[in-house]
Amino acid sequence: MPGINVKNALSDDSSSIKAFNNPIIDVENLNLWYGETHALSDINLEIPEKQVTAIIGPSGCGKSTFLRTLNRMNDRIPNVKIEGKIIYDGTNIYDRDIDVATLRKEIGMVFQKPNPFPKSIFENIAYGPKVHGITNKDKLNEIVETSLKNAALWDEVKDRLNSSAMDLSGGQQQRLCIARALAVEPKVLLMDEPASALDPVAMSKIEDLIYELKKDYSVVIVTHNMQEAARVSDYTAFFHLGELIEYSKTKKLFENPEKKMTEEYITGRFG
Ligand code: ADP
Ligand code: MG
Repeated sequence: MPGINVKNALSDDSSSIKAFNNPIIDVENLNLWYGETHALSDINLEIPEKQVTAIIGPSGCGKSTFLRTLNRMNDRIPNVKIEGKIIYDGTNIYDRDIDVATLRKEIGMVFQKPNPFPKSIFENIAYGPKVHGITNKDKLNEIVETSLKNAALWDEVKDRLNSSAMDLSGGQQQRLCIARALAVEPKVLLMDEPASALDPVAMSKIEDLIYELKKDYSVVIVTHNMQEAARVSDYTAFFHLGELIEYSKTKKLFENPEKKMTEEYITGRFG
């Protein structure tokens, strides 16, 4: 098993993951409260590098909350209390001196509903790099082209880069949002149900794209669609009522789960 520290990890056919060799993100004893609501309880989990990790579980179990902790998107919500550590690049991202804008450049996010800016296709992609100081026109052209290619959208839009992003179809808009996230050269891409608002054809394009992205990026995807998790991910974490119930290779989790609750969920007995 490449990437897994054999000393710490249990073997392929055994139970959950204990440790990766070089996790890109290491979550340690994470707890989160919204006021009195304890939304995440003692989460310990390592995100492997250049793999796709799926977060599954019934509605309200904390999937989105967890995903948002990974690039501090919960900071914007009032009355949130967070304890524990999330180590990225050797540092706890909740340390006081962390620059959140830089963190979000490294750990980008794509949301459920495509949210392009009401600007041209070109400007949607060039915006982030400009904010981060790139002004050279040739360089911006190059970034726009590369990002759109990496998001599997270039061929569909290369002749109309100056038309409004709002005129694209939903699936194209979502790939544009992925291209926009890629334009600032993140290491990690967080996706919260990125295909759930799309028709089956557009959904399958996004899933193919996610599979391609792991060559260069570490991807964490939240989905309530178990078939989707099984199709796109290498590792799957099952959450229930704010707790991490089981985390293992996707194949193992779906074919031979350790916990009764995981089995009940994946066989459709609740959720
Ligand atoms: P999921 O994405 O798995 O559906 P969420 O992370 O959205 O779950 O929600 C987890 C729990 O936290 C739920 O009980 C939800 O009601 C609560 N919650 C989520 N967002 C907020 C918020 N902004 N303020 C207060 N409670 C919230
Ligand atoms: Mg959610």
